[in-house]
Amino acid sequence: MPIPVRPSVPLGRRGFLALVPAGLALAGVQAPDWRALGRGLDGKLVRPGDSAYDRARRLFNPAYDKVRPAAVAYCATPADVAECVAFARRFDVPITARSGGHSYAGWSTGTGLVVDVSPLSSVRHSAGLATIGAGAKLVDVYAKLGKLGVSIPAGSCPSVGIAGLTLGGGLGVVSRRYGLTCDVLTQVEMVTADGKRVTCSPTSHPDLFWASQGGGGGNFGIATSFTFRSHATREVTVFSLRWPWARAAAVLRAWQGWAPSAPDGLWSNLHLSHDPSPDVTVGGLYLGSKSGCEKQLQVLVDRVGRDPSSRSVRHVPYQQAMMIMAGCSSYSVSECHRPGSLPGQTANGRLVRDTFSAKSHLAYAPLGDAGIRALVAQVAKAGRHTVLLDAFGGAIARVRPDATAFPHRKALYSVQYYAHFDGALAWARGAHAAMRPFFGDHAYVNYIDPDLTGFLGQYYGANAARLVQIKSRYDPGRLFRFPQGL
Ligand SMILES: Cc1cc2nc3c(=O)[nH]c(=O)nc-3n(C[C@H](O)[C@H](O)[C@H](O)COP(=O)(O)OP(=O)(O)OC[C@H]3O[C@@H](n4cnc5c(N)ncnc54)[C@H](O)[C@@H]3O)c2cc1C
Repeated sequence: MPIPVRPSVPLGRRGFLALVPAGLALAGVQAPDWRALGRGLDGKLVRPGDSAYDRARRLFNPAYDKVRPAAVAYCATPADVAECVAFARRFDVPITARSGGHSYAGWSTGTGLVVDVSPLSSVRHSAGLATIGAGAKLVDVYAKLGKLGVSIPAGSCPSVGIAGLTLGGGLGVVSRRYGLTCDVLTQVEMVTADGKRVTCSPTSHPDLFWASQGGGGGNFGIATSFTFRSHATREVTVFSLRWPWARAAAVLRAWQGWAPSAPDGLWSNLHLSHDPSPDVTVGGLYLGSKSGCEKQLQVLVDRVGRDPSSRSVRHVPYQQAMMIMAGCSSYSVSECHRPGSLPGQTANGRLVRDTFSAKSHLAYAPLGDAGIRALVAQVAKAGRHTVLLDAFGGAIARVRPDATAFPHRKALYSVQYYAHFDGALAWARGAHAAMRPFFGDHAYVNYIDPDLTGFLGQYYGANAARLVQIKSRYDPGRLFRFPQGL
């Protein structure tokens, strides 16, 4: 096959796609023609030296601010994304997709071309299906669908992107009732490594569709749009119960026997926090009345054997519940964004970035007494850190482990060791190591962790082999790669 040569005249709009035959990766003999790429996009290409560059390269976690991409392409259309993929192939430039920029490991930036899909943020709804641009932030998904009286199960952090969340699974506050985000996925539009735009569903590219349900972002192509089955919003009660630190072990013991097997409409998490002083809180949401919620909470309180020292149970509109869970209860939707003028940001945004270190486990069995003692002891250590336990079970557990790429259907809850400031990573590593004998090795790819050495099995379990096969079919040249890529 002849190798296309670079034309002596500048490439026109969409020129790269025409020049590069599908599947052909070129030796990196030509300097990337960034100006031509910029001209070819409907969106904006930001390069070093541009006034927006330092803002454009930032992720959620400032720990990755030192990474300097060659360019950030804000893609306004799927054709822009295809253009970027063709460019990366043509010039052998590393390419990385970015939606909300929340990758724990910072793997949505790099030294090459960052393809930011934030301008693809439309949210439409018709006939029970929500079609959402791959760059939409969760706060906008909830707000726009909420106005129509519908929603989808998704995560709680408002600035997380729908793409990273869905492709890795997507655990949210109504997941025990409606499933993971990837469980309600019906279709994905994606640009694959050969530059083609494909529609994936159970009947079209079914393997790629299956892989998109938990196989992890950044592996198979760049998604441009997702379609989900929606549910009608309904009455919601939110709650928060706090106990003194002395009750930590009792609350943990009671919570893990209660939360994963509660009725589907009840979702909760347990925070064992030392930030700045030790604290135990059970928070969550009940899809139903306040009295129905109180009844469920009483079961927990009885098991703890002591009334909480503070208790808040409030019946609120669905949309407000999502804002409370997002930590945005006192903000408008527009304020519940990162501040700025780049796509995905708002002029009056008030969300700040967070320097954190995190590691995680998945609990497939309840902790016994020794495990409870060990976890409480980790939290009690000096520092600013929290162990967050999020309940699984319900609809999550009723899906077969191989029905989607997300394998952890039988997990009872996820465990995150989340820390700030000096010593954060050392604490997280120490807590993770101390709890490994109790929790084992399973891990959630959306809490991606560079330290994991057996990550394929840990993230994907028995689904890893099929994912590797699908990767080799759709991206044989590994155009999309990162340290824990498939
Ligand atoms: C504060 C915080 C709160 C969180 N809360 C939750 C929660 O409630 N529930 C939950 O399940 N998870 C949660 N997460 C984890 C979150 O789901 C993952 O970090 C997720 O990968 C973030 O997606 P993103 O689009 O924001 O991140 P990004 O960093 O943009 O992307 C993550 C990965 O997906 C890839 N990717 C991005 N866009 C695309 C695309 N269009 N096509 C293909 N690949 C793409 C990236 O290259 C990267 O590998 C939270 C994370 C943080 C930091």
